[in-house]
Amino acid sequence: MGIGGALVALGLAAQPAGDLTEQYNDAATKLIDAALVDQGGMEKLAYLCDRIGNRLSGSPSLDKAIAWAAAQMKADGLVNVFTPRVKVPHWVRGNESAALVTPVAKPLNILGLGGSVATPKKGITADVVTVSSFEELEKKGRAGIEGKIVLFNVPYEGYGRTVVYRMSGPSRAARLGAVAALVRSVTPVSQQTPHTGALEYSDGVPKIPAAAVTIEDALLIQRLQDAGNPVSVHLEMEARTLPDAESANVVGEIPGREKPDEVVVIGGHIDSWDVGAGAQDDGTGIITALEAAHLIHQLGLHPRRTLRVVFWTNEENGGAGGVAYREWVGTMVRNHVAAIEMDGGAEKPAGFGVSTPGDSLAALNRVREIGKLLDRIDAGSIQPGGGGADIAPLMREGVPGLAVRTLATHYFEWHHTRADTVDKVKLEDLRANIAAMAVMAYVLADMPGTLQQAATGTR
Ligand SMILES: [Zn+2]
Repeated sequence: MGIGGALVALGLAAQPAGDLTEQYNDAATKLIDAALVDQGGMEKLAYLCDRIGNRLSGSPSLDKAIAWAAAQMKADGLVNVFTPRVKVPHWVRGNESAALVTPVAKPLNILGLGGSVATPKKGITADVVTVSSFEELEKKGRAGIEGKIVLFNVPYEGYGRTVVYRMSGPSRAARLGAVAALVRSVTPVSQQTPHTGALEYSDGVPKIPAAAVTIEDALLIQRLQDAGNPVSVHLEMEARTLPDAESANVVGEIPGREKPDEVVVIGGHIDSWDVGAGAQDDGTGIITALEAAHLIHQLGLHPRRTLRVVFWTNEENGGAGGVAYREWVGTMVRNHVAAIEMDGGAEKPAGFGVSTPGDSLAALNRVREIGKLLDRIDAGSIQPGGGGADIAPLMREGVPGLAVRTLATHYFEWHHTRADTVDKVKLEDLRANIAAMAVMAYVLADMPGTLQQAATGTR
């Protein structure tokens, strides 16, 4: 044996579990074959979105969705189905409208931001000051902002970079005396479609009403102002926050055959904004997880560990579901061997992002062995960096976190709008996501060692 052979032997000795690609080829073939002709996923998504509809925390339709989901989990062969209670914020939009007053009268297409306060009953009419950055806002100072409505006309530079204006823009403007805030919708593309989403008021600053405007309306106001016209807007909003409401996470399992106490969690969030149908955000996430588990059950595959499907509540305006789930599992959090969250829509899947404690290369490479099983559907790209809002509380305790990655070409065009409806979901893409989720979840739940063991070299 040469040096190369010796290294190979050492490598094998360090990883006696064997190559997962080879070991799970048959199971993956069966799961992908079944997923690529699946009808149940799309049927369930259509029922959730078309018959129950959007599902904001505190709404009767979210309660309906939770009851339906628990029944559907049982119908799909899951057991230990629970709906542990969660207290959630309860914000309601009420009626809302806005219009340009000068230099021309024209209605504006708005959606109030989640968590916003109302305007006075008669509304607010004020001059508009347009800014394209926080620097520009600060430069104008109190002298330029006090008594005005601030419009943040900020071009989209990716969701993470741009959403800060929706989240903290209203309070940044209020700090300088603004009476209301308008925020250009956080999206690359618009067809007069306003995008809602949560805002975050800062402590110690007056809460001012805030709404999203479309790209078209933001650009119109900018043009009018650049042409030297004073622009004024009238805004009316009834939005209010009621006392916290009762809600619930939905949990169901395929119990492990050998190590039922060890758990792989897969899921997404069951709540949505109060417009559209929450089809891509995040109907596709929860349905992909449920249908993946359903296929695993139907094919008679009994994973070594427990596979748990979780639909978290209140991701959109509070994150109470993710926190409550972590509390619900108590000390059993240490038995969670992996968590996969899907919350980016079901466009064509590309693979998974993975985060493990210490960013272990050995654990990442284990997931890459599983990824190779998905090369057949071009969904085998495994990249460092995974997770999501609902599994963050688990990941903070050392649970490896994965996120489904898709091409996401159009996701932010529909996100948080009236246009997030089932027609935006392609059947072949949903099927491919179900295939990817089923294979990843099954192998993580069945493989001889865990990712944590791969990371620490104990297996
Ligand atoms: Zn979402």
